[in-house]
This record gives sequence, structure tokens and C-alpha cells, in this order.
Amino acid sequence: MTEQFSRRDFLSASSRAGLAVAMAGVAPTVLVGQGIAPDSKPAVLGGTPVSSASLGARWPVLQGEEETALLNVLKSGQWFRGSTNLNMVAKFETEYAKMCGAKECVATSSGTTALVSSLSALDIGPGDEVLTSPYTFIATINSILAHFALPVLVDVDLDSFQVDGKLVDAACSTQTRCLMPVHIGGNPANMDDFLEVGKKRGIRVIEDACQGHIGEWRGKKLGTVGDLGCFSFQVTKNLPSGEGGAVLSDDEVLAEKVYRCHNNCRGRRTDSFDFTYGVGRAVNHRMTELQGALLCAQIKHIEKYQAVRNENGLYLNKLLADIPGVFPATIYDGGVNAWHLYMFRIEPEIFGINRDLLLKALSAERIPGWGGYSNGNWIEFVRNAFDTPAGRRVYPKSVLDNWAERVGPLPLLNKLSSEAVWFTQDILIGPKQNMDIIADGVRRIQKNAAEIARM
Ligand SMILES: *Cc1c(COP(=O)(O)O)cnc(C)c1O
Repeated sequence: MTEQFSRRDFLSASSRAGLAVAMAGVAPTVLVGQGIAPDSKPAVLGGTPVSSASLGARWPVLQGEEETALLNVLKSGQWFRGSTNLNMVAKFETEYAKMCGAKECVATSSGTTALVSSLSALDIGPGDEVLTSPYTFIATINSILAHFALPVLVDVDLDSFQVDGKLVDAACSTQTRCLMPVHIGGNPANMDDFLEVGKKRGIRVIEDACQGHIGEWRGKKLGTVGDLGCFSFQVTKNLPSGEGGAVLSDDEVLAEKVYRCHNNCRGRRTDSFDFTYGVGRAVNHRMTELQGALLCAQIKHIEKYQAVRNENGLYLNKLLADIPGVFPATIYDGGVNAWHLYMFRIEPEIFGINRDLLLKALSAERIPGWGGYSNGNWIEFVRNAFDTPAGRRVYPKSVLDNWAERVGPLPLLNKLSSEAVWFTQDILIGPKQNMDIIADGVRRIQKNAAEIARM
């Protein structure tokens, strides 16, 4: 079979399969295996790729109701959550709170503003410390810096890729006002550790669950374990609306404060045209009705995708763990992964090549992988962020030197960020056999690592 024929064959097969699965409401991914023997020559050395086309699905997936929902909002002219009888944002808040088992939900314009509003609600400000993970998207750190607070970064657990809960207590100081675990990849951080330290020290816990939609910790949904839980609905996330975010809480007083902090100090129960103001220091981080409409349509499908991702993710974990030098991110007991990312790490000495060569070899197999977050150079990043007149007033050099010394060199973060490989969540929505294809690809690369290294 020539390359060209197999490609054409794939395209027609994929459009048929795409139609069938689109009707079933599942992303149009197809089986792309080529029946290649797993120990044959890797594509990077000139062999036939294990996959006949790039693995992965189109994302986001239109489920059918988005168009009508958006047009309804559009034609109604009620684009703002405060002047509507369509109530798309409010409806979404109710549904998301119910799905997650939270009492309260406040939708926001983004995940970043969900974090910013939550930190506002806890009155975090200059001189305060917020303890968090260095292995995270930059928005986590930025939300802290936006309050002129200092991020205290705790090294990672190399097994789970999560911030190491066992190091949290020792990293706290009298200035620590908030703990902000991140469920990176959707894989739960060890919430037992964070809850224990929070309780012992009387400080609140905000979960950065921006990648953690409907993952779980000991039977509770992520984002409902701490005092506040923040989510992102940015388009790549598992529940997308282009941009968007939400804060969950069981604490009604705190949730009302989050509401005020995202609504120019004005409370949830304030009439839009009541211009007497509550006390506070807040700006506008509201979600639009158009985002609310998209989310009301998309939320109906997230549980179905989670089930498929979870099955495929756990299966791929088993397959990859059998390959020498490959270490899938472990899930703590009591955790259910939300699988925003599929993450694993290699030990180059055992695997035979380094991570960057592996990524190149994977790409040749038509398996798109990413190296993930860099080490962030956070110390330099934070120093630069506060290198302004206001920043220097709040944080004289001696204070930042002290902070930098406490944070230290983060050796495991450096190791993880140079050894990690990510697949994006859409890869996990395909048929289970695609997981076998991925594992076959990684295995043949590993078996031929010595030759690849000599390339
Ligand atoms: C996406 C993300 C955010 C920010 O969300 P936006 O909606 O992009 O503002 C924050 N933290 C983490 C871990 C994220 O993945």
C-alpha cells in the first residue's frame, strides 16, 4: 500500500467515522493504526509511522445546541448577566454547582480572574505570601503577583508531578495567608496535606482546579475540597467557552464576597440599577451571557468525555509503565484524574535518549507530544515583576533576597520540566486502540534508542 493511498483511505474512513461519532456526540476521532509491528524500525529512522495520521481530535467539539443558544442571546440583546431573563450565566452557575456538589458558584471572565477574585475575597495583599506549585501555568503565579503578594513555591513530587504536600508546612511563614494547590494536568494534588496544614495554621485553601473539571478527591469533586475552587473554561480546557472561569465554594459568605470582588464591589443580590455601593476594592471580572450560553450547551457532555478519558488514561498508564525508563504521573490514593493532560516522564539514562529526542521521534510516528512547562525561572520572574517603583517600596531587595533563599533552587522542578512529556486531552477521547498505538510508538522508540541517539 503506498503512502498516498493509505492517506486517502484514511481520509475517507475518517469522514465516515467522524459523521457516525459526531451523531453519537463524541469527538470525531478515528482509529489510525497501521498494523505496524511494535519492534519494527521507528519512523524517525525511516520506518513507517505507527499512526496513519496525527493522533488527536478536533477541539472544541460542537454538540449541536450551541448555535441556537448563542443566537437566542444575540437576538435578545441581553448580553450582560445583570439585565436578562435568559439567565444563561446564572443557569450555568446552578448547573455547575450541582454537578460538582458545591453550594455556590460564581462564573467569571476567565480562570485567571477566578483566581484573582478568590484572592481578593481573602483580602490577600502586599506582603502576604501565597504558597503554590512551581509546576503550573503562569496564570497561577500572576494571580498572586496581581495582588502584590509573594508566591512561595514548593518543589514537586516527581511521581505525581504535583506540588509536594509533605513540604508545605515547612515552607510556611507567619506571612503565609493562603495555600493554593494546583491540580496540574487535572491530576489531583494531595489535598489531605493541604487541608491539614491549612487547619493547623488557620489559613484558607484555594484550589487552582483550572485543569481539574470533575476530577475527584476522596469522593468530592476537585474545586470543592478547599475553601474556594477555581476553574478555567478557556477553549483548550475540558469544559470550553473560548474564555471563562468559575469559583466554587460551600461557604456562602465567602462566595458572596467573591461575587462582590468580581463585580465592582456589588453583591449578587444587588439590583443592576442600585448604585449604592458595598465596601471593597474590586473590579469587573464578569462572564458574558454569550459565554454562559456556550457553557450551558457544553456542560451536558463533559461527564461522557470524562468517562472515556479516564478509561483511556488509566489504560495508557498501564501500557507505558511497562516500558523501561517511562514513568506515567501517578495518581494519589483517593484521587480521580480529570485528565486535562496525559503526562509522563522519562529517565533518559534508562530510556536511552533524552526527552527532546523522544519528542522528535514521537512526532515522526505522528503522535503529537509536548515538553510541557519550563522551570519558569520563577525567582528571576518575580524579581523582575517587582522591579518597579511600587514593587521596590513593597519589597526592598533584602526582602526578595530572603524570599529567594527560602524558595531555593527547586531541583525536582528542574528535573521534571526537562523530562516530562504531555499529550493533550483530545488524544484520550479516541478509541482505546489508539492508546495501544501510542504505546507501540513509545516502545519502538525505546527499543531503538541507541540508534536514534547516534542519528
Ligand atoms: C488555564 C489555567 C489558568 C488560567 O485560566 P485562563 O482561563 O486561561 O485565564 C490558571 N491555572 C491553570 C493551572 C491553568 O491551566
